Amino acid sequence: MWNYNLILPECVIIGTFLIFYFTQPRLPIKINRAFIYIIVIDLLTLFVDVVSSYCLEHFNYLDPCILRLQNIVFFILFLQRTFCFLMFTTIIVKKDMRTSKKEILIFLIPTLAAHIFVLLNFFFETIFRISESGKYSQGPLYCLIYVCAYYYVILSIIYVIRYRKNISTGEFIFCLGYNLVLLTGYTLRIVYPRYLIMNFFTLVSIIVIYLAFENPALFIEEKSGAFNRKALMHLFMEMKAGKYPLILGFTIHNYGELRDIYSNNQTDKGLSLIGSFLKQTFPKLMIFYLRDGRFVLVGKDYSQAEEIKNKIRNRFDSAWNTGEDIDLFLEISFAQLNPETISCDRDLLFTTMLTSLTDIQSKNQAELNVTIEQVEQIEQNKHTKRAVELAIEHNSIELYLQPVVDARSQKLTGAEALARIRDSNGEIIPPSQFIPIAEKNGRINILGKQMFEKTCQFLHDNDIEAMGLSWINVNLSPIQFLRRDLCDNFTAILKKYDIPAEKIHLEITEESMIDYELLKKQMEAMKAAGFCFALDDYGRGYSNIARMKKCPFINVKLDMEFVWDYFKEKDKILPTLVQTIKQMGFTVTAEGIESLELADTMRDIGCDYLQGFVFSQPIPANEFAGKYGKN
Ligand code: C2E
Ligand code: MG
Ligand code: MG
Repeated sequence: MWNYNLILPECVIIGTFLIFYFTQPRLPIKINRAFIYIIVIDLLTLFVDVVSSYCLEHFNYLDPCILRLQNIVFFILFLQRTFCFLMFTTIIVKKDMRTSKKEILIFLIPTLAAHIFVLLNFFFETIFRISESGKYSQGPLYCLIYVCAYYYVILSIIYVIRYRKNISTGEFIFCLGYNLVLLTGYTLRIVYPRYLIMNFFTLVSIIVIYLAFENPALFIEEKSGAFNRKALMHLFMEMKAGKYPLILGFTIHNYGELRDIYSNNQTDKGLSLIGSFLKQTFPKLMIFYLRDGRFVLVGKDYSQAEEIKNKIRNRFDSAWNTGEDIDLFLEISFAQLNPETISCDRDLLFTTMLTSLTDIQSKNQAELNVTIEQVEQIEQNKHTKRAVELAIEHNSIELYLQPVVDARSQKLTGAEALARIRDSNGEIIPPSQFIPIAEKNGRINILGKQMFEKTCQFLHDNDIEAMGLSWINVNLSPIQFLRRDLCDNFTAILKKYDIPAEKIHLEITEESMIDYELLKKQMEAMKAAGFCFALDDYGRGYSNIARMKKCPFINVKLDMEFVWDYFKEKDKILPTLVQTIKQMGFTVTAEGIESLELADTMRDIGCDYLQGFVFSQPIPANEFAGKYGKN
C-alpha cells in the first residue's frame, strides 16, 4: 500500500509558492529561471508519482505499456528534479557563471546515460518491471537512478565547499543545508520505498531555497518598491553583451539635505511615489533604486532613451505630493551608459554606474554620457585604490626627494619629500593619480603618516648637515591636516627618531584654508609643538593674502604655472607679490624651475629658494643620500 498522506499538503504548498512567485516582480536572471524550473518539475514529479503509484495499485488491469510509460515519465522527472537542484547550486556558488566543457561533461554524461536507460526500459526492463498482471518490481539496474541522484547531490556539495569564498556564510550554510536535506531524502527513499517520502524532502529544500535565495523581498528596495542594488548586481553579472543596451540612471540633487528639510518620512513617501510612477510609466523597463536618491532603469531599446528622459524630466518639473500640504520639489540629473560600454567587464560597469551617479550628484551636473574612456578611468582608479591599499599594508610607499636650492648660491638647502607607489607590474604610479583617490577614501591619513615617518627615518639615518640640508618639506593633504590627532601623532614620531620639529617643514595648500578658524587653531597648536609651515602651490587657487598674513607660515611656494606665466610674459604682478610676501616675513620658493635662465629670473625678483628639474628631478631617498652625501 503506497502512503499518500504527505503528497496533498505538499502539492498545496508548492502550488501556493508558484502562484505567489508569479505575482511578484521578478528579474529575468538565471537564479529565478532555475527556481521556476525546480518548482514546475517538482509539481509534475509529484503529480506523476501519485498517478503512476495509484494506477499500479488500482488499475493494474491497464495495458502494461501504459503503466510502463507512466513510470518512465516519473523516472525522467525524478532525474530532472535531481539535476535542477545541482544547476541551482552552481548558479549560486559560481558567480562568474562560466561553465567549462569539462564541467558540462561531468554534469551531463550521468543524466544522459540514466535517461537512456530509463527510456530503454520500455523494451528491456532494466530499471523496473511491470508484469502482465500489472505488478511493479525493481529491475537489475534500478540502483542506477540512485547512483545518479547521489552523484548530483554530492557534486553539488563539493561545489558549495569548493566555491565557498564566492558566497556569504549565510548562503554557504543554506546551500549546504538544502543539499544535505536532499541527501537524507534519497537515503530514506531507499530505506522506505513504499512511503512517498522523497517529495517531502524536496519540499523542505525548496522552502530553504525560497527563504534564503528567492524570497522577492531579497531583491526589492522597500522605500521605492523598485529592485535593489543586489538585484542590479545580479542582472549586470550575467547580462549578455547587447541584451540590455539601455542603462539609464538618474539621481536626486542634494538628497541628504532633502531628507533633513522634508523629514525622512516625507522623503520616503516621495521615493515610493517616484517608484510607482516609474513602474507605471515604463512597464517594459526594469527599475532599480540604489539608495541615496539614485535610480537606474534598464531596458532593451536604446533608441527610447531620449523619450524616457523627457518623460521623467517632465514629471519632475511638477511636485510630488506626499501629504496634505506637502509638496516635494526635486531636481534630478541623468547618467547614461553609452552602448559601446556594454562590452566592458560587468563588475566594472556596475561600479561605473554607481560612481557616475554619485559624481553627478556631488557636482549637480545636469547630464553625463558615460563613454568607454570613463569606464577605463574608473578601472584605472580601481587598480590605483588596490595599489594604495597594498602600499599601506606593506608600508611600501617610497620616499623620493627633490632638492630645493638657495636662489643666490644655488647650493642645496632643503628638499621636498614626494610620495611614490608602484602598481602590480612595478611601474610607478604618480601622486597626481593616487593622492586624490587616497584623499577620497580617507587612506591619505595613514599614507601621510607613513611618509612622515619615512622622512624622519631618513633624517635620523643620514648626516644631513654634511649634505648641506637644513630641512625637508613634507606635503600634508587638507584631509590629513584637519585631523585633531595630527599633532600628537607627528610629535610621537619625531620623538621616536629623535628629530627636532624644525627640521621638517609641513606644506599645506590653500584648500586647507577653507575652514579658516580650525586651520588657525591647528597651526597654532602645531607651531607651539615646534612645527614650521609652508604654503604650497600659491597662485593656483583663490589666493587670499589677508588670511595668509594671519597664519604662522615661514615660507610660501609659488605654483609653477604662475612662475612659467611670468617667465613667458613679464609684468609687475609677480615681483610685487614676492616683495609683499617677503614684507610679511615669509621666505619665497619658486617651483618648476626648468632652466637656468628661469632660475636667474626668479632670483632677480627676490625668490629665496628654487626647486625644479634643472637642479634635479625627485629621486629615491637612498639615491639622494648617495648623491649629496659625498659633496
Ligand atoms: P607639489 O607638492 O607641488 O610637488 C611638486 C611637484 O612638482 C612634484 O610632482 C614634482 O615632481 C614636480 N616638479 C618639481 N619640479 C618640477 C619642474 O621643474 N617641472 C615640472 N613640470 N614639475 C616639477 P609630483 O611628485 O608628481 O607630486 C605632485 C603632487 O602630489 C605634489 O605637488 C603634492 O601636491 C602631491 N604629493 C606628492 N607627495 C605627497 C605626499 O606625500 N602627501 C601629499 N598629501 N601629497 C603629495
Ligand atoms: Mg609640495
Ligand atoms: Mg607645489
